[in-house]
Amino acid sequence: MTPVIALVGRPNVGKSTLFNQMTRSRDALVADFPGLTRDRKYGEGNYEGQRFIVIDTGGLTGDEEGIDLEMARQSLQAVEEATVVLFLVDGRAGLTAGDEMIADHLRKIGKKAHLVVNKTDGQDPDVAAADFYRLGFESTYLIAAAHNRGVRSMLEELLPPTDEDVESDTASRYPGIRIGIVGRPNVGKSTLVNRMLGEERVVVYDMPGTTRDSVYIPYERQGKEYTLIDTAGVRRRKNVREVVEKFSIIKTLQAIEDAHVVILVIDAREGLVDQDLHLIGFVLDAGRSLIIAVNKWDGMDPEDRDRVKEQVQRRLDFLDYADKHYISALHGSGVGVMYESVSKCYESAMAKWQTNRLTAILQDAISQHQPPMVHGRRIKLRYAHQGGSNPPIIVVHGNQTDSLPGAYKRYLENTFRRVLKVTGTPIRFEFKSGD
Ligand code: GDP
Ligand code: GDP
Repeated sequence: MTPVIALVGRPNVGKSTLFNQMTRSRDALVADFPGLTRDRKYGEGNYEGQRFIVIDTGGLTGDEEGIDLEMARQSLQAVEEATVVLFLVDGRAGLTAGDEMIADHLRKIGKKAHLVVNKTDGQDPDVAAADFYRLGFESTYLIAAAHNRGVRSMLEELLPPTDEDVESDTASRYPGIRIGIVGRPNVGKSTLVNRMLGEERVVVYDMPGTTRDSVYIPYERQGKEYTLIDTAGVRRRKNVREVVEKFSIIKTLQAIEDAHVVILVIDAREGLVDQDLHLIGFVLDAGRSLIIAVNKWDGMDPEDRDRVKEQVQRRLDFLDYADKHYISALHGSGVGVMYESVSKCYESAMAKWQTNRLTAILQDAISQHQPPMVHGRRIKLRYAHQGGSNPPIIVVHGNQTDSLPGAYKRYLENTFRRVLKVTGTPIRFEFKSGD
């Protein structure tokens, strides 16, 4: 399973700086998502081919009360479920009461954490760290996140060696299209899982995989194979009255990693909330195909429906390539047609395109709109080929491509997307320069 690294520490110690460093190095350049400039809490990293998930728990200040308490509770749950916990402190500020309280929290839940002393630049690292040794952590890393110093060697030690067989292993055990059903608590995930499996002509196979955190349910519908990844754990409950398991962000992130197509469920009665946007950001980072299911559409006033639709259109403006469905998991309306979106998304994510086709699209795009000049020379884009799938990667070769403006990259993305009829999945671009 994809390892999860949780960052904890009081405000200003450098968590988001470290988060950005860890999530920056991806296989391929991702076009910016202009609608998602909010601060991110979950990200995808890649160290020498080993993919991992990073969570900036953010919610521990060391002296929480009131609303902070709920955030702290969620942070602590993420800490408990993480593979690796990094406790960040500020090497310039020295040990503070807030640090000691967080260290206490960590001790109480019995989770092994590594101490990370940040901001060791411009001072003797050992002196910077000396203050913190009495917190009693077994392993300590000295880094300067802002300068990306010490970060790679820390990852090298923390991450398990790359397992090349992970993808093929998951794929062989769980046939067909893997659909992840994700969303916040109470949006209707369990109801949707039951509805999708309860349809006529669905044949659910015995599930061997119930020991996993999420439940993987292989089934067949209209002659096609699927595996549903059920983060709500419905099918593991013996009866419907059994207590609903607590929401787990980590289970959710791992389900996204394992899926081909993610159905993000939103509660129409609440509209889009920040956590929905964080999850969308993560799905895009992970390069997965996305379908938005706005649930509980039954029994809503026409004005409320208009308001929710307008909000979804506006806030998800940057996601116009993803299908949105307004459904009632409870009554089943709109659920069957989602399978059509699932098929389209899967085909887009796995599509294979010839080099001459991609190059022709590139050249057409250029003749419509030339790339700009830089230092008196025009940026040249010569040819394009495919570099991977799920998500599709398009590699573009040319000159001075480092200077290609974001707006032009988005223009290229939109053009390729339109011509190739790519639905649901982000497309990644890599630009290779001959000079
Ligand atoms: P967070 O609140 O824990 O997420 O902390 P931030 O990542 O926002 O960092 C807080 C401040 O510390 C910012 O002004 C950063 O630029 C600064 N900072 C982060 N890492 C370093 C570092 O390695 N060295 C120095 N000198 N400053 C840093
Ligand atoms: P989960 O926590 O995301 O798995 O959510 P559940 O499937 O357990 O649903 C939470 C609550 O919302 C339950 O009371 C459901 O009966 C209700 N619910 C789920 N889907 C719908 C729907 O389409 N319409 C209405 N009105 N209620 C729904």
